[in-house]
Amino acid sequence: MERTFIAIKPDGVQRKLIGEIIARFEKKGYKLVAMKYIVPKRELAAKHYEEHKGKGFYEGLLDFITSGPIVAMVWQGKGVIATARKMIGQTKPLESECGSIRGDFGIEVGRNIIHGSDSLDSAEREIGIWFSEEEIFDYESSLDNWVYEK
Ligand code: GDP
Ligand code: MG
Repeated sequence: MERTFIAIKPDGVQRKLIGEIIARFEKKGYKLVAMKYIVPKRELAAKHYEEHKGKGFYEGLLDFITSGPIVAMVWQGKGVIATARKMIGQTKPLESECGSIRGDFGIEVGRNIIHGSDSLDSAEREIGIWFSEEEIFDYESSLDNWVYEK
């Protein structure tokens, strides 16, 4: 089953959006299979955002993402990578649809609340950076048959 890496950034934590965000993914039908609450080390953040190295916002982005606790998660389910990106919205909150997380709760690109992997390759890469296999728990849910036709 497909998996994606989702992180509630320091602004999302400070703004008390953890419960709201987790509830949206749960209600959609996706399964939380890994989660940790951490202040990321700069080295970890740099690895996560290595595609942006050299860009003007890169150092500020690392300062921000390491500035406080974040909620790092792996969510699992059919189509979760692309659907999570739709649920999250555009990179710039003001260009995000209302109804999306960034569209509903954000204004500035540097305070856009949440991260989500943008492809299968980046999902696999990011999950591997943040979690070991032993930290990911796939499990049967009695709701599976109510979410999936099978
Ligand atoms: P995402 O995949 O939608 O999160 O966007 P990107 O991968 O393009 O960028 C990663 C993160 O870097 C974004 O979520 C923003 O937090 C930040 N970012 C991207 N572009 C800018 C920018 O132009 N200015 C600032 N301050 N931050 C940016
Ligand atoms: Mg990205």
